[in-house]
Amino acid sequence: DFNVSLANVGKDELGELARSIQKLADDLERLQKERNEFLASIAHELSTPLTYLIGYSKVAMRENLNENDRNHYLEIITEESNRMKELVKNLLELAKMDQNTFSVSKEYFSARLFLDNICKRVAPSFDMNNIKLILVCEEDFEIYADSLRLEQIMLNLLDNALKYSNKNTKVTVEAMKQEERTVINVIDEGIGIPSDDLELIFEKLYRVEKSRSRTFGGSGIGLAVVKELVEAHGGTIKVKSILGEGSTFTITI
Ligand code: ADP
Repeated sequence: DFNVSLANVGKDELGELARSIQKLADDLERLQKERNEFLASIAHELSTPLTYLIGYSKVAMRENLNENDRNHYLEIITEESNRMKELVKNLLELAKMDQNTFSVSKEYFSARLFLDNICKRVAPSFDMNNIKLILVCEEDFEIYADSLRLEQIMLNLLDNALKYSNKNTKVTVEAMKQEERTVINVIDEGIGIPSDDLELIFEKLYRVEKSRSRTFGGSGIGLAVVKELVEAHGGTIKVKSILGEGSTFTITI
C-alpha cells in the first residue's frame, strides 16, 4: 500500500525522492528533445539528396539533351544516391551498436588494393570539386580488419575531408604499418576545427557551430560511427587540426 509505506518515509527521503523524480523527468525531456533534433537532421539529410535526385532525373530524361550533359546529370544522380546509401548505412550501424548486436569479422587484405579502390570510388566527387586526392602507401602490407567496416570508416573520413575543404586544395590518404598495427592518416587542407571542439566532434550529433553546419549540411553522426567502428576493432582515432589550415585524422587499428 503506497500510502502506508510513504507514511514511514522521513521528510529528507521524500525530498530526495522528489528530486530524483524531477531529474528523471528532466532527463526524459532532454532525451526527447535530442531524439526530435536527431530525426529532424536525418530527415533533412535525406531530403536534400532526394531533391537533387528528382530534379536531375527529370533533366536527364529530356529528349534533346546531348550525351555529355546527360552523363553529367547521371553522375550527380549516382553521387547523391551513394551519399544517401552511406547515411542509411551509418544509421543502421548506430542502431546495431545501441542494441549490442554488433560484431566485427576480421580478415587479411592488401592495404594498397583496398585504399586504391576506396580512392577510385570517391574520385568523381573530388574531381567535381577540384580537390586533388592523393594516396601514399609506399610499401604494400596486409591489413587485418573488417573490410566493410574499414570501408565505411574511410568513406566517412573522406566525405568530411571533401566537405570541409576549399576548392583547389588536396587531400592525402597515407597508410603504413607500424609494428603490428595499421596506421591511416586522412589529411586535408580545409577549414579546420576550433581546438575547443576537438574533443567533442566524435560525440553523436555534435556539430561545430550551427552556422557552418548550415553551409555544409551533415547529420553529426559520421564521426560518432567512425569512432565506434574503430574502437570495435580495438583501435584508436585521433585528430589534429589548425583552424583555417586543415585537419589530420589518424586511425590506428
Ligand atoms: P557531419 O555530418 O556534421 O559532418 P560528423 O560527425 O562527420 O558530422 O562531424 C562532426 C563535426 O566535425 C562536423 O560538423 C564538422 O564541423 C567537424 N568536422 C569533421 N571533419 C572535419 C574536417 N575534416 N574538417 C573540418 N571540420 C570537420
